[in-house]
Amino acid sequence: MIKITKAAWDTMVSHVEKTFPKEGCGVMVGSGGLVEEAVPLPNTYSGPQEDFFVMDPKDLHRVDREARGKGLDVLGVFHSHPDCDAYFSKRDLEHSCPWFSYVVLSIKRGRFDHAASYRPDFDQKEAPKEELIYG
Ligand SMILES: [Zn+2]
Repeated sequence: MIKITKAAWDTMVSHVEKTFPKEGCGVMVGSGGLVEEAVPLPNTYSGPQEDFFVMDPKDLHRVDREARGKGLDVLGVFHSHPDCDAYFSKRDLEHSCPWFSYVVLSIKRGRFDHAASYRPDFDQKEAPKEELIYG
């Protein structure tokens, strides 16, 4: 289960509504399964960003360092699916880390529609849905 505070959730939704119709992304920071802070990051994918996202490892390391400095951890990654449902794609699975939660936000016509969270298994064969509580 992953819980997201209202402040973090609002940051996530407003970021991915802004990046629409491209995929928006970022990192979720907190502790004990509670996301206290969302950090939007640039999508650096060089192909069509309507279809995929990539985050710069330098950005990830910076956020990780800053989180640790505050006694927090990176709990997961969020990204949007513009005009598409909040499923976890095969490509998402291939690029995932097993110890992270992956929150996918479905944005339809520029507005938040629904979301789901996934937790990839260790060999990245499957990513079962986990309970997501936000707001
Ligand atoms: Zn995706």
